[in-house]
Amino acid sequence: MAKKIEREVVKASSAKKETKKAKAPTREAKTEEREVVEVKDGGDKQTRKKRATGKRLLAIFFWLLAFAAEVIVILRLNGYLYWLPQLDIKTFIIGGLIIDMIFVIVGSLFWKKANRINPPSEKNKLWFFLCSQMGLIAAIIAFVPLIVILLKNKDLDKKTKKIVSVVAAIALLIAGAASIDYNPASAEDLAEAKSEAAELGYGDVVYWTQYGRSYHLDQDCHTLARSKVLYEGSMDESFEAKRNDPCDYCADGAAIKASAEAEGGLLEEVVEEVAEEVVE
Ligand SMILES: [Zn+2]
Repeated sequence: MAKKIEREVVKASSAKKETKKAKAPTREAKTEEREVVEVKDGGDKQTRKKRATGKRLLAIFFWLLAFAAEVIVILRLNGYLYWLPQLDIKTFIIGGLIIDMIFVIVGSLFWKKANRINPPSEKNKLWFFLCSQMGLIAAIIAFVPLIVILLKNKDLDKKTKKIVSVVAAIALLIAGAASIDYNPASAEDLAEAKSEAAELGYGDVVYWTQYGRSYHLDQDCHTLARSKVLYEGSMDESFEAKRNDPCDYCADGAAIKASAEAEGGLLEEVVEEVAEEVVE
């Protein structure tokens, strides 16, 4: 059934673009060479939810390991632990920091993947912010207490303290930068993308390229002319593949981005409001 819809869509779009094609006869030849790769089926709504939950649990598992690494380093710093006595304190702390950082990042990658498989709702702006940036919060929890304790420590010699503090700060920066979701999508974005596609007369088949960030509704979109390989999937699958940016030319990207930007402004407002409340 999906195949049938897909075929109809391609016909409709090529009919629309017929006049343009006549002007650029080379494009058709290029399209023929092109390989269209159908991405793996991401499953129905229920399956997607389950897959996302599995990824979230994995994320939490790795973050807990990161917090455990942090606690172990803190314990050793405070003289409670005598693990690996052959390691001097500097090596022990740096090793702990690196393990901490790796676990935070792995957890955040799973968390971000879960958000792409089943994007969180934007109805409650604070909740959406927390949900999409949970990795950053985990990075802060996994490093800031340790850094504070390190800076307050009076037992370490000056040089060691300086080195481990710098390493801890760098680890926090790397873990934080890797954990932020720079382009988070919401359930509402996904629903809007789907309804926009339907309004423009397309079915639930979209296209994207190997490196591009956009999804395209039209297989013959001129921005795709140079791409030898096209990926084809549903809108859910394109969001999962991190292609939640509508093409300006074939997916009405300008209009969608304008409305998303207005909402983004609102998100900032809410964050400011909450921050003010917390300060008061
Ligand atoms: Zn396009």
